[in-house]
Amino acid sequence: MLLHTIKEVREQIHKWRKDELTVGLVPTMGALHAGHMSLIKKAKETCDRVVVSDFVNPIQFGPSEDFDKYPRTLDEDVKLCEKEGVDIVFAPSANEMYGEGQKLSNDNLTYVCPPFFYVNTLCGKSRTGHFDGVCTVVLKLFNIVQPDFAFFGQKDAQQVIIIKKMVRDLNVPITIVQCPIVREESGLALSSRNQYLTENGRQDALVLSKILHNIKSCYKRGITEVNALKETAYNFLTNKHDLEYLEIVDKNTLEDKIKADNESIALIACRVEGVRLIDNIYLGEE
Ligand code: AMP
Repeated sequence: MLLHTIKEVREQIHKWRKDELTVGLVPTMGALHAGHMSLIKKAKETCDRVVVSDFVNPIQFGPSEDFDKYPRTLDEDVKLCEKEGVDIVFAPSANEMYGEGQKLSNDNLTYVCPPFFYVNTLCGKSRTGHFDGVCTVVLKLFNIVQPDFAFFGQKDAQQVIIIKKMVRDLNVPITIVQCPIVREESGLALSSRNQYLTENGRQDALVLSKILHNIKSCYKRGITEVNALKETAYNFLTNKHDLEYLEIVDKNTLEDKIKADNESIALIACRVEGVRLIDNIYLGEE
């Protein structure tokens, strides 16, 4: 069922709780694709009831980012969710989430701000305030739905690390389940933003996963110096690629490495046709 208000969601959850059913939450910004559906499938396997939130969260977008043009496909999202047996699609308005007419800024609203070390790196470096906005909306969703489990994709690796940290630090009684990246056959990681790309852009975007897979195969062949691994990327980049970062860090703590090991993750952010794309790969796993 499609619900728009917090009150309706709470009433439904209350009924499930009375019946001692377990609840899973899959937070999304909609424009659902097979990546989101993999989280939903995992949630269905794990929990008695599944809630998918479908909300383009204004406070996690910077002033020059794509909030206005971000794809909104609620009707199709609801159909996909129904097919998958989702129990509630929660699609609130910004007014419902943040209060009628509230000024959406941290001089007016209570924000959840993850530690500086976790946000002053990778995506957080160029997206000031992004993870404050993410943690704030995710904690609000956790408080509204009060799920037993919440499902996040490795696609947004820094995000899931920060969410796990928030849950630990704030004693949130929810188990975070991390799900693997879903890719097209070409290797391109699925993303709602891929639809901004032209056909040529999609070809150029394949370079992200190629760089990461090449780094992994170099690592498997015995190259461990992070600088040497990062340099291999330059064989792939062209003037169509505006590289924002390529880093190899600890997959649990985001700490820098001089030498890669089986606990390392390689992460990349790169603009293609002005579209900001991200991807990552664990070096230690098959
Ligand atoms: P979004 O709607 O982009 O905020 O994403 C909602 C959730 O889906 C996040 O936990 C993402 O990490 C996850 N997700 C997005 N793309 C993928 C993908 N290709 N594979 C797996 N999970 C994904």
